[in-house]
Amino acid sequence: MNGSDVADPGVLDAPMRVPFFTQAAGFAALGPLIDRHVTDVMDNGKYSHGHKVEQFERALAEYTGARHVIGVNSGTDALVLLLRAAGLRPGDEVVVPAFSFVASASSVVLAGGRPVFADIDPVGYGIAPASVERVLTPRSRFLMPVHLFCQLADMPALTRLAAHHGLTVLEDSAEAIGMRQDGVHAGLLGAGGVLSFFPTKTLGAIGDAGAVLTDDDAIAATADALRHHGRFGRTIDHFPGINTSSALVGVNSKMDDIQAAVLLAKLTRLDADIARRAELAAAYDARLTGVPGVLRLPTVVDRGVRADPVCYVYLIEVERRDDLVDHLARHGVETETYYPRPLHLQPCFAELGHRPGDFPNAEAACRRTLALPLYPDLSLDAVDTVCDHIRAFFTGAPA
Ligand SMILES: *Cc1c(COP(=O)(O)O)cnc(C)c1O
Repeated sequence: MNGSDVADPGVLDAPMRVPFFTQAAGFAALGPLIDRHVTDVMDNGKYSHGHKVEQFERALAEYTGARHVIGVNSGTDALVLLLRAAGLRPGDEVVVPAFSFVASASSVVLAGGRPVFADIDPVGYGIAPASVERVLTPRSRFLMPVHLFCQLADMPALTRLAAHHGLTVLEDSAEAIGMRQDGVHAGLLGAGGVLSFFPTKTLGAIGDAGAVLTDDDAIAATADALRHHGRFGRTIDHFPGINTSSALVGVNSKMDDIQAAVLLAKLTRLDADIARRAELAAAYDARLTGVPGVLRLPTVVDRGVRADPVCYVYLIEVERRDDLVDHLARHGVETETYYPRPLHLQPCFAELGHRPGDFPNAEAACRRTLALPLYPDLSLDAVDTVCDHIRAFFTGAPA
């Protein structure tokens, strides 16, 4: 509050605005450390693919336990490079969930493959093993589970199924930093996985960045080469455009050194940030339990393994979702819908010939789910405000 002002009741009663996302306070708290890493980049004199990326890759390898971390410019490119490095051939089918971010399927097309959709489990939102069984064909070579919101897909069942059918498992673990199964980090439960450092992600940069994670030496070497015009090894000079020796047709998808600098600083707070997210999620749980119109709160599904859920997105299912979104927006509360349209009904995949009704669980999730603000900067007062407005909407009581 502005100390010199005499409290004006009108001002005190002004509705609290709750943005869907901000990390301004988190950045401010880490300011000196970020400055140090960024200055280090400036002093180094090598501004693309410098030592900061390598330093971040080593730190992330330590955090995740991955044998190899390959820093790239986005989670989306990480998926494309991973699919290519894992040996996807033109026309190979990759089974992906119908409910996910578009990159889970567009990456398959960009890598030259064909996405094949399957339905999801309606509680955990991961791809459903029984649905995968139904869509397999002789051309199916890969299975790409996506770990959404706060928990891993049903990896025990999916890895069993994949082994049975000879499928290679690649994880879209873009959202899953910090999530583990029996101590194994997301992305390392199959042949490889990815991380996204898009700003809203649990470990978010100040722009775009991503990484490939794998324990497989050959996949790592190929992904490393592909991100840099097909050149094997880190023999990189100041002019990465010069033609030395390209064994593969690659792309320029190197991680930006400034993003690596920011991420190195933020990694020191990741576990604290994850704990704060859990605290906020528990506060939402307590306030929303039993509210009429709220159909489902985030539910961690027991898969018979030790799981470390991480609340990346606090996703609820509600009646009259779109009206609630409008109501909250009118009261200054920003929300998001992850994802309003299932992948099998996206115009860009129309040629796959799907119709409404093909994957009912995915379609229901698109209609009913709503993501509430959740990030370390969020206050418990803001959680109260959001929940009061939700209760008021469904019960007609004043907020
Ligand atoms: C964020 C995300 C991606 C893409 O990551 P970008 O860094 O934004 O390219 C892919 N898949 C899922 C499930 C995601 O949440």
